Amino acid sequence: MTELLGMRVPLLALLVLFLIRSLVTAVEKPFNFNETPGKLPKEVVPTEYTIRIVPNLDNFTVVGSETVKLSVRSAVHQLVLNALDLKVDAASVDGKELPLSAIKADNEKELLTLALPSELAAGDHFLALHFTGKINQQGQGLFYMRYQEQGSSARKIMLGTQFEATDARRFFPCWDEPAFRARFQLTAVVPENWLAVSNMPIEREQKVAGGKEVRFASTPPMSSYLNVFVAGELDLIESQVGATQIRVIATKGKAELGRYALEASAQILKYYNDYFGVPYPLPKLDQIAIPGGFGGAMENWGGITYYESVLLFDPKNSSAETKQDIYEVVAHEMAHMWFGDLVTMAWWDNLWLNEGFASWMGSKCTAHFNPQWEVWLARKLPRDPTRRTGIAKEAAMEGDARSTTHPIQQRIATEAEANSAFDDITYKKGQSFLRMLESFLGEDVFRDGILRYMAAHEYSNTTTADLWNALSEASNKSVAEIAAGWTEQPGFPVVNVKREADGKVQFSQERFTVNFKNAPPLLWEVPLTYSVVGGTSTTLLMTEKTASPENIPADRALKLNVNGAGNYRVEYDEPSWQLLLKALPKLGVEDSVNLMSDAWALVQAGRAPVSLYLGLVEKLPASTDLAEREQFINVLDFMNDLLVGSSEREKFQRYARSLLCPTFETLGWEPKAGESPNSGRLRASLISALGDLNDPEIIAGSRKRFDKYLADPTSLPPDLRAPVLAVVGRYADENTWNKLHELGLKTTSSEDKQNYYNALACATDPKLVNKTLAIALTDELPTSRATFLVSRVARDSGRPDIAWDFAKANMKTLLAKVDAAGANRYAPSLFIFFSDQSRADELKHYAEKNLPQATAPEMAKAVDEIRFRAEFKTRLGAELNTWIDRKEQR
Ligand SMILES: [Zn+2]
Repeated sequence: MTELLGMRVPLLALLVLFLIRSLVTAVEKPFNFNETPGKLPKEVVPTEYTIRIVPNLDNFTVVGSETVKLSVRSAVHQLVLNALDLKVDAASVDGKELPLSAIKADNEKELLTLALPSELAAGDHFLALHFTGKINQQGQGLFYMRYQEQGSSARKIMLGTQFEATDARRFFPCWDEPAFRARFQLTAVVPENWLAVSNMPIEREQKVAGGKEVRFASTPPMSSYLNVFVAGELDLIESQVGATQIRVIATKGKAELGRYALEASAQILKYYNDYFGVPYPLPKLDQIAIPGGFGGAMENWGGITYYESVLLFDPKNSSAETKQDIYEVVAHEMAHMWFGDLVTMAWWDNLWLNEGFASWMGSKCTAHFNPQWEVWLARKLPRDPTRRTGIAKEAAMEGDARSTTHPIQQRIATEAEANSAFDDITYKKGQSFLRMLESFLGEDVFRDGILRYMAAHEYSNTTTADLWNALSEASNKSVAEIAAGWTEQPGFPVVNVKREADGKVQFSQERFTVNFKNAPPLLWEVPLTYSVVGGTSTTLLMTEKTASPENIPADRALKLNVNGAGNYRVEYDEPSWQLLLKALPKLGVEDSVNLMSDAWALVQAGRAPVSLYLGLVEKLPASTDLAEREQFINVLDFMNDLLVGSSEREKFQRYARSLLCPTFETLGWEPKAGESPNSGRLRASLISALGDLNDPEIIAGSRKRFDKYLADPTSLPPDLRAPVLAVVGRYADENTWNKLHELGLKTTSSEDKQNYYNALACATDPKLVNKTLAIALTDELPTSRATFLVSRVARDSGRPDIAWDFAKANMKTLLAKVDAAGANRYAPSLFIFFSDQSRADELKHYAEKNLPQATAPEMAKAVDEIRFRAEFKTRLGAELNTWIDRKEQR
């Protein structure tokens, strides 16, 4: 009986795993236009657009006209294209006017349907449209920004666009799905003293009534969402790389602050020209700094737009962190000039092809030229306050361990779903998987695959299958089969390491989850790496549930996931763990950071007590390595936030300070001559962490330096500004709050402004919390920053309850400032700082009554996060108590 049972269980398990795997490997096909998802019929394909727009800045409207050359592939009776918030008041086909009754706009479906009087035969035809639209306040479609000009008190206005994912249709009627590539030729009328920028160089400028008419050259065939138009009182600096003119464009008085970005983009352009084997194809490449509208950056072909604080660098006043931010963002966006623009994903279900790849390529290039930044490891405080870590892999794995995750490749049916696809899984799991795949196939083989892919698909669209095919050809390995588990199923594995009594080592894999009971079991092909500490590393493609490595000495430490390059966790049994702890001084920083991250994840998952993590941290040899120290600063920070209001918090803070103080004492307050930029960044992290942990010396030191700074701004080194201001803000009285606010109002530097308002968001006095929140309703900050301010307050003040009450009362005004990509996330994200079960129900009720259905996935994530925090808070408090008591007795 027992034998039988022993036989049947594995058989059943094998069968289940086989079924799972065959489900997963029902893979997609290479790109095929006719089979690409989307709403628009495929019979009619636009090939060339000629667009003319005349914006009216007095009433924020636009008058436009366009002619579209159509290739009709089979006869049709109607034309169906995208338009949203546009009024089409005239249409003609091949010069024949359609009656107004033939023009139907459906704002709900975002479609424009033109009924034709007779059948339109296959062949080339011309559609002409006349339309009016509007200029938006938030960063979608065509939008305006008000800003204060550098070196003057004048308030100015300028225009910009943001089309990805589905907002080109707000600017002009178009076939607004990525597979419909066409040439776009734009003409715009702007005030005479303005500079207008688009994807291509200016072909002709002429005076017209009300300003000047600027005509841009026609683009190569590309997707509609990559169009760009920016205009205002702008300045530029420029240089040349081979045949490409490169420029940084900013509002008047700020162009010189683009010097660093200009130099970085020259370096990056040469690297990519070489890496991709296809040189950058347009005559010019602009990096455009805009003072609002949206928070990030957008890879419009030939005219990349950036929120100005991620492009402009002031050598006297900007921090080392800002410098790194700029390099990384520029490298990411420029990678899109190939991956995204030259070759574009066929549909939004493959968005990861754009974003995962650009994230990986950008990091690879950044690390190549700036190894000291520890790009793959260091925390880099995320700009978005709702993100817990800046390390791509960790951020992706945190979300991917939950019940609310999704596969990298996911079905996308609607515009709202397309906008929701821009998440950590798409960007960061994509990046992390590509890094693992590159290290498995080898750098040269991987690049050979990319060369083939670029050459085969330039000026066209692709699916993930096309990339795997190119990599399979280059490597002679079945990449699609390895990749399927990582891109087509959710989650990732933990590999368990077990030492048997006879000294043999056994690996086994299972799905790693956090706060997710009864998760369906899954299996991966894991490109596993391991080494006996001090020895060389071995790669093993683990295709089954278990594997047995050979020749591991029983008395030597074994480290899996060498350099942390793999997208999986590792859980060691007690003997293996003890050997590793003894070998810690011999581990490189990548491996020690990887051990710390995995140990912390095991604690979150409830697979290990917090003593596993803290025991490791306490055993680390003293060091001022940035990545290693920031890993536990980040964890202590999270614990400190979670423990708000609990009785264990004070004891915890004392303990946490004792862990961080020795490193701060080594570094000291003042930068030392010739120290590495990383020391400056670590010092900054320690000041803000110790400030949060209520360290009296740090609080007094920050106040003293702030007073000096008020008298002499140069007295505070750029790296220390953000943390010192944050500590001062946290413990501010009304008078100090007012001073910080005044400084924020006055400055024209986006970076300084951000530091001041971030400091305001830290204030914990409820009266001041409310004062900070009220700023979000004014136009003191660019729209995207104003809405972030509320999230900042929710996190940094320790009073998410006040922030939520405020947001609830003003939701309509706040949502009007959020761009398309943020709309679904905004309200749910304000809940993730709660650790009280009842808030989960409150969010659900609120969403049912007030939020569109499209927010459901984000709401589910927030509910899961609240539940996780509630459970973890109780468990953590008790375990910390025991650990700290024991330590104090030691
Ligand atoms: Zn991107």
